[in-house]
Order: sequence, then structure tokens, then C-alpha cells
Amino acid sequence: MAEPAEPAPVPARLTVLSGPSAVGKSTVVQTIRRTWPQIWLSVSVTTRRPRPGEEHGREYFFVTENEFSEMASSGELLEWARYAGNFYGTPRGPVVERLAAGVPTLLEVDVVGARQVRAAVPESLLVFLAPPSWDELVRRLTGRGTESPDVMTQRLDAARGELAAEGEFDITLVNTSVDEVCGQLVALMTAQPARRPGR
Ligand code: 5GP
Repeated sequence: MAEPAEPAPVPARLTVLSGPSAVGKSTVVQTIRRTWPQIWLSVSVTTRRPRPGEEHGREYFFVTENEFSEMASSGELLEWARYAGNFYGTPRGPVVERLAAGVPTLLEVDVVGARQVRAAVPESLLVFLAPPSWDELVRRLTGRGTESPDVMTQRLDAARGELAAEGEFDITLVNTSVDEVCGQLVALMTAQPARRPGR
């Protein structure tokens, strides 16, 4: 009897995690970094100042506005956006390399960035992380205590617009428990795409 044919390699999936500021995206990303080394997390560049505990090259590459605009204008960024007065962007090269090597890749970006990734990589999976409620989001945003009142107001305004974009995403995960959300996200990222009969 003939040996069964080797299954065709499944291309690595590009997954985008987005949602309002303070919904808990970075906690989800940190948990995935610690627990699932088989998933590669893109490290963005930003012009924002580091928060206490953040390290250059781990949470972000912290750059000047000049450095950022050079990267953006030379096409080095897969997507970029201005958020609450600072610039954020995803370096293109490392993402392309990891996907070509078959590594499931996760980007954590704002809603504007998620739209750009969808346009650049239509087969990407867009995941929206939603808060359990608006009050809970406000509590998380104000409780962080790292932002000035002005920045807080900008972030709350941005959060209203971001919540309205949920319908543009492929799937919503509600952040009631970080561990559950991480499990669901990793399952989505590593699931084999369904094959049609006869293919
Ligand atoms: P934070 O300053 O709280 O770390 O991030 C502010 C917002 O920028 C968050 O919504 C975060 O998801 C988003 N963000 C982080 N990195 C990127 C990026 O590379 N591109 C875009 N478009 N947004 C990003």
C-alpha cells in the first residue's frame, strides 16, 4: 500500500491583536511571551518614552521622531499610526522573515494599524480584545496611573472610537481572564485551516 502523502506545509499565520488602550493587550502579550515560545511576537518601534520596567528591544524599540520618520518613509514599516501623541510602527523585515520560516507571528497594534495590516496581508487574522464593560475599561485606564490627565483624556477618546471598530475584526475575545484569552488566542494561531473535501 502506498505511503500516505506528506501533508502540505501549512503557512504560518499572521495574527493581529487589537482593541482599546488598557484593555489588557500587553498583559496578554507578556503572558504569551512567557508561556508559548513557539509564537513570535513582533517588537514595535515607538516615539513614546519608556514606562518604568520597559526595556529597549523587549516591549518596544524606543526611537526618536526623526528615526521613526526615516523608517516610515523608507518603507521599513509594515504599518504605522499616531496614537495619543506618539508614533508606533511594526518593522516589516522581521515579520516577513518569521512568516517565511513558518513561525506563527503575533502583532499587537491599535485599530488603525490593524486596518493597514489587513490591507497589506489580506489573509491575516484580526482579533479584537474587548473589555468586559466600558466601566471596567475606564477603571483599568485610570488605575494604571502612569499617564497625565491630558493623555488619559486622549486615550479615553481613542478607546471610544476603537470599541466602535469591533465589527471590522474576524473574531472578538472578551478579556475576563488573561489565561483564558491567551489559551483561545494561541489555539486560533496554531489551528490548522480546514481543508475542503477532495483537496
Ligand atoms: P502603549 O503606549 O500603551 O504601549 O500603546 C498605545 C497603543 O499603541 C496601544 O493600543 C497599542 O496596541 C498600540 N501599538 C503598539 N505598537 C503598535 C504598532 O506597532 N503599531 C500600531 N499601529 N499601534 C501600536
